[in-house]
Amino acid sequence: MAIIQDKVAIVTGGSRGIGAAISRELAKNGVKVVLNYNSNSEAADKMVAEINELGVEAYAVQADVSKSEDAKKLIEAAVERFGQVDILVNNAGITRDSTFKKLSEEDWRQVIDVNLNSVYNTTSAALPFLTEAEAGRIINISSIIGQFGGFGQTNYAAAKAGLIGFTKSLALETAKTNLTVNAICPGYIGTEMVAAIPEKVLDGLKAKIPQKRLGKPEEIAKGVVFLCKDGDYITGQQLNINGGIYM
Ligand code: NDP
Repeated sequence: MAIIQDKVAIVTGGSRGIGAAISRELAKNGVKVVLNYNSNSEAADKMVAEINELGVEAYAVQADVSKSEDAKKLIEAAVERFGQVDILVNNAGITRDSTFKKLSEEDWRQVIDVNLNSVYNTTSAALPFLTEAEAGRIINISSIIGQFGGFGQTNYAAAKAGLIGFTKSLALETAKTNLTVNAICPGYIGTEMVAAIPEKVLDGLKAKIPQKRLGKPEEIAKGVVFLCKDGDYITGQQLNINGGIYM
């Protein structure tokens, strides 16, 4: 079991939705959090204040992780502030849904850039620090859509499936170090991303979920903490947190 008190985590897109829940849950376990955001500084400042109230240090860094120079700046800022990086949670993500026939090249590229290329950007900058850590962790937030596809989501499904392949391959390459690399595949979770789905479609989705409800962001966050604390011998895996919709 790894002791995570006083470790340093970078959470991309850590200010809202699932990322905010991950930042909060790590902080509750005494982890210092570098909370990355892209456009919503208000949400990031609020999250930092909430974590500080727990008596834990947090630091918000603006960076568009789809840009390699921004991702480098994010990792450098974390190292400058805390001197180390132990945990990298690649959580930032967007959707631009459209059937493939109508999908613009711009929406294809943007979704691949933010959901997949960002992970190359952050991981390549953070890897030297993570392999030096006592119990380094990379946790990639993929999606059930990367496992079973999604109507109108060729771009998003390709990015999220890509993350799973990336996770397994990097896990193989780093298995001899103290770094583990895993993916979490959430099902349908109640965040603003899912709020964009029309109510009728959402009702239909809920009916298909064996547990008959959306997941909560904190249920994904608890998976992250589990992998950080108890995941010494878990690498290259997909942790499915989805109410049973994909087994
Ligand atoms: P939200 O839309 O609620 O939040 C997205 C977060 O990502 C925000 O903090 C946002 O920051 C950040 N972000 C977006 N683009 C960038 C960028 N270019 N650089 C840095 N940060 C960025 O999403 P969720 O919380 O729902 O999703 C989080 C992750 O979980 C995503 O990867 C998503 O694909 C995945 N997921 C979500 C599911 C769901 O049902 N909600 C299901 C399966 C997977 P800002 O606000 O500052 O722009």
